Amino acid sequence: MKLPGGLARRLLLRVLVFSLCFTVLASAVQLYFEYRREMRDIEARLELIRVGYLASFERSLWDLNQEQLNVQLHGLVDFPDIARASLRSADFNLVQGDERGRGPLRVERFPLSYQPPQGERRQLGELEIAIDLGGVYRRLWQGGLSNLLWMGVFLCGLAVALSWLFHSLVTRHLRVMADFVRSMTGGDLQTALQLNKHERAEQDEIDTVAHALDDMRQAIRADLRRREADRVALQHKRDELQRRVERRTASLQRAKEEAEAANRAKTRFLATMSHEIRTPLNGILGMAELLRGAPLGEQDRRRLQALSNAGEGLLAILNEVLSFARLEDGASQPEAVDFSLRQLLDDVLTLLEPRAAENGTCLRLRIDPQVHDACRGAEQFLRQVLSNLVANAVKFTEEGEVRLEVTLLESPDERQRLRFAVIDNGIGIPEAMQAKIFQRFTQASEEVARRYGGTGLGLAISKRLVEAMGGCIGVESREGEGSTFWFEVELAPGQAAPVAEPASTVAIKPLDILLVEDVALNREVAQGLLERDGHRVSLAEDAEPALLACRARRFDLILLDMHLPGLGGIELCQTIRKQAEGRNRDTPILAFTANVLPGMVRRYFDAGMQGVLGKPLRLEELRRALAGVNEPPVPVTDDGPLDSQVLATHRQLLGEHKLGELLASLRRLLDEQLPMLDEALRHDDPTEVANIAHRLAGSCQSMGLRALGGCLRELENAALAGEELAGWAERVEQRRVEALRALDS
Ligand code: ADP
Repeated sequence: MKLPGGLARRLLLRVLVFSLCFTVLASAVQLYFEYRREMRDIEARLELIRVGYLASFERSLWDLNQEQLNVQLHGLVDFPDIARASLRSADFNLVQGDERGRGPLRVERFPLSYQPPQGERRQLGELEIAIDLGGVYRRLWQGGLSNLLWMGVFLCGLAVALSWLFHSLVTRHLRVMADFVRSMTGGDLQTALQLNKHERAEQDEIDTVAHALDDMRQAIRADLRRREADRVALQHKRDELQRRVERRTASLQRAKEEAEAANRAKTRFLATMSHEIRTPLNGILGMAELLRGAPLGEQDRRRLQALSNAGEGLLAILNEVLSFARLEDGASQPEAVDFSLRQLLDDVLTLLEPRAAENGTCLRLRIDPQVHDACRGAEQFLRQVLSNLVANAVKFTEEGEVRLEVTLLESPDERQRLRFAVIDNGIGIPEAMQAKIFQRFTQASEEVARRYGGTGLGLAISKRLVEAMGGCIGVESREGEGSTFWFEVELAPGQAAPVAEPASTVAIKPLDILLVEDVALNREVAQGLLERDGHRVSLAEDAEPALLACRARRFDLILLDMHLPGLGGIELCQTIRKQAEGRNRDTPILAFTANVLPGMVRRYFDAGMQGVLGKPLRLEELRRALAGVNEPPVPVTDDGPLDSQVLATHRQLLGEHKLGELLASLRRLLDEQLPMLDEALRHDDPTEVANIAHRLAGSCQSMGLRALGGCLRELENAALAGEELAGWAERVEQRRVEALRALDS
């Protein structure tokens, strides 16, 4: 039989301990009573001896009958527990029984006397009885021990039986229940609780607990099923919602894309329109500019001024639209230059001074003395924002005051965070409109729009420009009292900007210029501008008359439109250079074009041109280019890794920032493609080598990395000709290192 564990074992142990104690106690009590009984028996025996035997002893002693006395003593010794009986008198000393005695003895003495019929009672002797208490004790001990033993055995049996019963009635089922609960916790809710016991009509406590547990299992199962159903329903709803959100997002995305596309189309349309209008407008203004030099009556002069003013106004609007379109396209990037802040502020105010004077408004400037003058940042952006804000302030203020204030907010590590505020006391802006006026095409009210005109773009542009500079812009205003437009930007410290010498002051000697341009208006404007500066201009509409003119005489400069009908500008340039007469073989030729893409510039130079003049033609730029023609040509070093001419032209046409971006993307292209070229060289794959070299050579050359571009071009040719390609990898690498070093220096 396996010894039951747990409760049953504890029960067994406790019953055993309890039984042991009880047995010992019970045996002790029983022993005590036995002892008392034994003692009473001995007393009774002694009493019997005293009552029944003493008289006959006295008689026999009186009679001196020794034999009788011995018989009688012997009779006493036969009594249980009497170890020894002895009689002492003057005549006898008789002893019967075991002299030595076996254990502790209890000795009782009985005096013997006799009353003769006559005379007095006489003392005859003494009877001594020794009772063997050792025997009594032994009996008691044996009885007690056997009792203890039997009781022990009985109680142990009882304890074992009890604990076995307890085990089979209770703990066994408890264990099954525990296993059941454990498997339920483990997730098994299918299996019902089965106790290994007979079903009785009457339920006991174990049945009650078992039923309660099974009820619990079913309740949990039902609850889980309900939850699962809820979860599935929820999941279903969520999926449905998700799908709906996705559908909605997709349709919103579509709508957004459509709106953006429409917006882009609108902006593009506006830009195209503005561009298209701007070209003839430039012509109109150029013409007006030319007319100024003509002898005109006072009235005509006023009309010409009005024409010019209207044209300028229209041009300003177009420029705003274009500049916004460029900003939206991300085409305008802030370009950091060194500039003098005071100079910039003075310029802005000086330009607007006449308009302010017309309105009877005075302009004031206040610069925090702590502000450093030499700054570096997007001067163009800053100038445009300030011009917009001050122009607005002037426009909306009559007979008042416009203040431009610059304060230093903080200057962490040499940079300065500046706050520019344009404060006027003009018409002000209603509170509700203040946040909206920074949106494009938004004006404070219909009435303001009618009265003051404008496009509603100035502030939108200003906001974008300020944000492009990493700053923020805002307005505080009260209707009828005035407005404060402010913005905050951070500017780096700059070197004192060199005072630019106006190009117009450069002394220019009159030149003989051939202008080849097919658009009559452009032709006329350029001619007018050039002639006003004293140059002599010959005109040609396209290649044919141009070639004729070149054959006939030598020019100091040829301006070539690149988009000519028939023979294009590049071919025409090449033809002029190759003409048999060779009159204009060395004449500087400038490309006159709107296409100033980097890839094209190199082609212009390769075709034999000396420079590029962007369209629309700007007087200052034209003068600067002509001044360049007057200067002795800078010797172009052919063997340096960089083509300084190309780089300078890019810088002039695209600006430093854009040039930087293009060079960075060229570096990326090289980083990506040169390892592939290396790989192709290692595997001796001429087709792949030629492909990659071709791709890279073009990009390098158009960005002025002459030596590397040339080397790649040679490699391409070598690969195509099936020549040995060993050693090329090192050459290309050397050129690359040189080119990058030159770019970095
Ligand atoms: P525009 O001036 O061409 O209409 P802006 O974007 O520059 O466009 O200005 C938008 C509107 O904000 C203006 O039409 C005008 O109602 C209001 N506004 C701008 N500056 C001022 C100012 N200094 N005082 C009052 N109203 C102003």
